[in-house]
Amino acid sequence: MTFATGLICRECGATYPALARYACDFCFGPLEVSYDLDAAKGAVTRESIERGPLSMWRYADLLPDPGDAPADLGAGWTPLRRATRLAEVLGVRELWLKDDTRNPTGSFKDRVVSVALSSARRLGFTTAACASTGNLATSVAAHAAAIGWPSVTIIPSDLEKSKIAMAAIFGGTVLGVEGNYDDVNRLCVELVAEHEDWAFVNVNLRPYYAEGSKTLAFEIAEQLGWRAPDQVVVPVASGSQLTKVAKGFEEFVTLGLIDGPAPVLFGAQAEGCSPVATAFRSGADVVTPQRPHTIARSLAIGNPADGLYVLDELRAHGGDCGSVPDSDVLECISLLARTEGIFAETAGGVTIASLRQMLDRGTIDPDRSIVAIISGHGLKTLDAIVETATVSSTISPSLADAEEALRFHQLVAAS
Ligand SMILES: *Cc1c(COP(=O)(O)O)cnc(C)c1O
Ligand SMILES: [Zn+2]
Repeated sequence: MTFATGLICRECGATYPALARYACDFCFGPLEVSYDLDAAKGAVTRESIERGPLSMWRYADLLPDPGDAPADLGAGWTPLRRATRLAEVLGVRELWLKDDTRNPTGSFKDRVVSVALSSARRLGFTTAACASTGNLATSVAAHAAAIGWPSVTIIPSDLEKSKIAMAAIFGGTVLGVEGNYDDVNRLCVELVAEHEDWAFVNVNLRPYYAEGSKTLAFEIAEQLGWRAPDQVVVPVASGSQLTKVAKGFEEFVTLGLIDGPAPVLFGAQAEGCSPVATAFRSGADVVTPQRPHTIARSLAIGNPADGLYVLDELRAHGGDCGSVPDSDVLECISLLARTEGIFAETAGGVTIASLRQMLDRGTIDPDRSIVAIISGHGLKTLDAIVETATVSSTISPSLADAEEALRFHQLVAAS
């Protein structure tokens, strides 16, 4: 049973029932889901959670009401792996990787979509839709297919080939827009007004959608043996994930499921789209939109909806935000793969490169525990690496050629 009570305005605190609305009538501020945490305290226990399914829905008490059954492809409960070899390279004592490449469609977006479409079905919607940088479109199309809904997913037309294919394969309608994500998002806001019976998961269902990211925090805490790590590095696109990971840890502290304090959060952005990192470092209290230009397409949101909330979170607790060049992104995709056997998409490269950058400038403490969220699978951004990740040598099928190549690659001693 959920302890969600309804919606609350993040700006003025006005409350609303748990219906399909996303902006406050009084101040136009964004709404979020509210919970009766006093009632949940004592009812939601480590034991009650441990009895739940091995998916993100083990935290159903702290998620919006999914109706009769969630729209569930098995998102969540992804591995949290101790990364000793990468830790050694980076010179840190305790590093963990939250491997969200292992979700049903290969990205953390399955968490938010599972919550959003469950709420959408409960609220009587019958069509799934979204504005996407790629991963969200794939996840929406897949979950819609699984519950038998039509889907309309809207993406920039020049995305990575593999992302377009993954969005299209589930049979929904995919609209490729000649423009960037911010153009796509503007278009979707207009479409919402025209198609009120469509569930745009990250527009009119955004309060519900956003809650799915809390499960990253819940899982990290539970998988560490019911404790909070000291520091968590989170990739930032719209900023929804980072703000809700913060909310998740805070809820667990409030419920007494972990001892405080909640971890310090650190953002990760690509230099070619770093509106939050730029505002953070310049001390600005507005986020100035940027025109994105980076290989990290999944994070390429130049005008992030939750940018100000991310700034507040980083500043309130001594966080920081990395901003890394594409060359570092590629290098760190490879570093992560070579040291830990995890193949991440460009967003994962941004996260590891940002971690390294913030260690270098001393804002992340190498002696305190660190969790890095690896949010998408490398097969999604093959385009970024196919030029450099190639066969070591091409040889004829002869023993002599093979032996020569192995000598060249120093796998056997030169004779
Ligand atoms: C969407 C996405 C994020 C972060 O998204 P927010 O909009 O900040 O919540 C991170 N990594 C990947 C791979 C994504 O697709
Ligand atoms: Zn308000």
